[in-house]
Amino acid sequence: MFMKIPKQIKIGGLWYEVKTSDYMKSGPNCYGEIDSLDLTINIRNNIHEEMQKQALLHEIIHGILDNAGYDEQDEKLVQAISYGLIQVITDNPYVFVNTAETEVK
Ligand SMILES: [Zn+2]
Repeated sequence: MFMKIPKQIKIGGLWYEVKTSDYMKSGPNCYGEIDSLDLTINIRNNIHEEMQKQALLHEIIHGILDNAGYDEQDEKLVQAISYGLIQVITDNPYVFVNTAETEVK
């Protein structure tokens, strides 16, 4: 496992609160959502843990793009990057481990 669902995550210098819920504002087919004004990420709690991690990474990418001023975001591109990154990070965990800061909040 490359990561746990944290209670907070820092994106672009800002701390986002990470919550899990069975309710998504965007509808029942949505696995996660980010509010870059409220600094919250909401991840669906009734999906597989692996899908929760993928959803979190997906929302992190949205947050990175939000912070960079991308108001219009290509959902397929975000999905491709999140699935691609989760595979690379999971299969190469030694590359991304910072032994000085391994504490997960
Ligand atoms: Zn999305």
